[in-house]
Amino acid sequence: LSGKLNGVFDRLRRRGALSEADVTEALREVRVALLEADVALPVVRDLVNKVRERAVGQEVIRSVSPAQQVIKIVNDALVEALGGGEGDDGKRGIDLNAAAPVPILMVGLQGSGKTTTSGKIALRLRTKDRKKVLLASLDVHRPAAQLQLATLATQAEVTSLPIIAGQSPMQIAMRAMDVARRELYDVVVLDTAGRLAIDEALMEEVAQVKLATNPHETLLVVDAMTGQDAVNTAKAFQDKVGVTGIVMTRIDGDARGGAALSMRAVTGAPIKLLGAGEKLDALEDFHPDRIASRILGMGDIVSLVEKAAANIDQAEAEKLAARMQKGQFTLEDYANQLKQIGKMGSLQGILGMLPGVGKIKQQLNDANLDTSILGRQAAIISSMTPRERRTPEILKASRKKRIAAGSGTSVQEVNKLLKQFDDMSAMMKRMNKIGQKGLMRGGLAAL
Ligand code: GDP
Ligand code: MG
Repeated sequence: LSGKLNGVFDRLRRRGALSEADVTEALREVRVALLEADVALPVVRDLVNKVRERAVGQEVIRSVSPAQQVIKIVNDALVEALGGGEGDDGKRGIDLNAAAPVPILMVGLQGSGKTTTSGKIALRLRTKDRKKVLLASLDVHRPAAQLQLATLATQAEVTSLPIIAGQSPMQIAMRAMDVARRELYDVVVLDTAGRLAIDEALMEEVAQVKLATNPHETLLVVDAMTGQDAVNTAKAFQDKVGVTGIVMTRIDGDARGGAALSMRAVTGAPIKLLGAGEKLDALEDFHPDRIASRILGMGDIVSLVEKAAANIDQAEAEKLAARMQKGQFTLEDYANQLKQIGKMGSLQGILGMLPGVGKIKQQLNDANLDTSILGRQAAIISSMTPRERRTPEILKASRKKRIAAGSGTSVQEVNKLLKQFDDMSAMMKRMNKIGQKGLMRGGLAAL
């Protein structure tokens, strides 16, 4: 291992963890960025608090500044808040998993893009999903609104419900469902009227239509330019009507899109689609990471930190491989390794640096590593004193009991870990003598 790398690691140890002051300073910058992106104040506050908790005490990544590292943590929290977490994958896009005709109700303030989005959705469902779509405008408040939808329907090559003057939104909705059932439509998109501000009578009207048609999706359409009002709008629609998803329009403009975060935070409903222009094909799938970096406006820093983190993992892996080869493997190293296995790939990376271990990597890929055990083992090691980690021989019954209690595990688990570690270090010491074949067998057994 080169001396230069050692220097890097020394610096890392000296720097240790992100301090409260580091984090507070960086978060000040982040707060401004989020507010500039029109994320609603209470949402900013929540996010900043969450990040503070997560960031303080986190191990620093050398070669980037604490501020940069905090920004990366913010970015990850943003992605998560926008629905990038596990379990959210199936919630993007429109859910049509219901008996036909599936009603979709479009709600939102006037000018948010409901009618345009209705046309876009119709086009997408017809072309991509091969669905038979009926468009119906329930907007009797604005002259020409129904004609606007009919025009879009023609462009999208789908049918729109014939206009009958004098009908109420409820009557139109019932007629649409009726026609759809009789003529075997797959999907009915119900486009509603909106007001410039939240309006009780109108909310009530939409709520009634919702009750009567029981839509499978109620999509709240929001203009990305909506600023701090986004929260109030979302809250009102969620409380009075109930929404299942959000469509954010006008992301082709220069708004940073903080409204997406506010809406998602307040309603808990997933963001399903994005409107990216006036044309009917300007409808995009939602990618939390893209919007996150747009909201934060610090994409360069995020990728810088990602790169640095990847390099450090690499450097750490090289160092570990060298120590393994010299037979200087300690419990500390083992704990580090466990941490990296959590991120997966790293153990393979380490092994990949030893000659001739292609096969072991494959076997590791195949083996289903139970990460909860790994987490418990890491907890056991962190409950040890530094001296215990260096010289595990001193671990007798009373110390083991203390460690088990401290890590929320049992003495048996502590014993098991020690046995595994013993096997592993013995295997590593033999490594040079026996050669790679022995490593492969012993290595896998120890795992
Ligand atoms: P509604 O009142 O909610 O039905 O809104 P409309 O669908 O009538 O849209 C209002 C205006 O916004 C129209 O001029 C649309 O062309 C425009 N619009 C809708 N969605 C988008 C979008 O994603 N990007 C852009 N640039 N304009 C949009
Ligand atoms: Mg409209």
